[in-house]
Amino acid sequence: MQILDGQMASQAIRDALKMEVAQLIAEGKKIPHLAAVLVGNHGASETYVGAKVKACAEIGYRSTLIRFEEDISENKLLNEIENLNNDPGVDGILVQLPLPKQVSDEKVINAIQVSKDVDGFHPISIGRMVQGQPSFIPATPHGIMLLLEHYKIDTRGMHAVVIGRSNIVGRPISILLSSNSQPGNCTVTICHSHTHNLKEICLQADLIVAALGKPEFLRADMVKEGVIIIDVGITRVPDPSKKSGFAIKGDVKFDEVSPKCSYITPVPRGVGPMTIAALMKNTLKACQENN
Ligand code: NAD
Repeated sequence: MQILDGQMASQAIRDALKMEVAQLIAEGKKIPHLAAVLVGNHGASETYVGAKVKACAEIGYRSTLIRFEEDISENKLLNEIENLNNDPGVDGILVQLPLPKQVSDEKVINAIQVSKDVDGFHPISIGRMVQGQPSFIPATPHGIMLLLEHYKIDTRGMHAVVIGRSNIVGRPISILLSSNSQPGNCTVTICHSHTHNLKEICLQADLIVAALGKPEFLRADMVKEGVIIIDVGITRVPDPSKKSGFAIKGDVKFDEVSPKCSYITPVPRGVGPMTIAALMKNTLKACQENN
């Protein structure tokens, strides 16, 4: 069993990006600038945005964190997005989800200019991705593909089972794994909360992407020997022994499942850091294409 170390792979990508920034500076070109929008005070969202802003600083990008109160109106947020769209200094716009209930995620995502859509959630970005055209690929699925690439895992012909069909993880990763690319060229089964016989389907999988948000859901009796496991889940579960009061759990019961795997991502230090690396790559791409 080999651990797919997302922290290490992410660092390698961020180091390469750091060198690209040094090159941009040497050539007197524009430095990438990411604008991150955070609404409210959710602990997990704060952590994710904080990590993204920190990664920008480490690589040498500019970043601006724009914070709004939980009770912001949809119109005000849409106006702010419009301002960022029109700001030539800003290359990438990221709106941390989820948004409060009075604001439509869909309207906000659709308002982001496609050329600045570094999260890759805009319907035009998704459409381009589905057709295999150049586009921004959503950061988490992009990060998973980069991780498979980093470890030179040949996924050709594999049966990949994706558990979860969200627009940000399950659905896009199922499209990427099925595309004519390396990594890719898998035969993909996408499962969700209405899937019958999930265990039987998982037992046929060469590669499983677990993205359902149910801590330690995938157990040893659901996977075959030699399987590759990508655990996307991040759930905070109460743990009085921790200073924070919670522990982070993936969707896979790691201790039980890992002995059966050829490769497995841990949680933390797996898909999470790769998501950040992918976002950073998308931000550089936006800067290069917009300038
Ligand atoms: P979501 O709630 O939008 O989607 C969950 C999906 O799982 C749904 O499609 C649902 O049909 C499916 N599902 C739920 N219960 C199921 C069951 N019993 N059997 C089969 N399918 C089931 O979640 P999401 O936004 O896609 O996130 C999934 C998990 O990944 C969460 O834990 C989230 O925190 C985590 N996440 C991690 C990263 C990262 O960077 N590592 C990024 C995004 C999301």
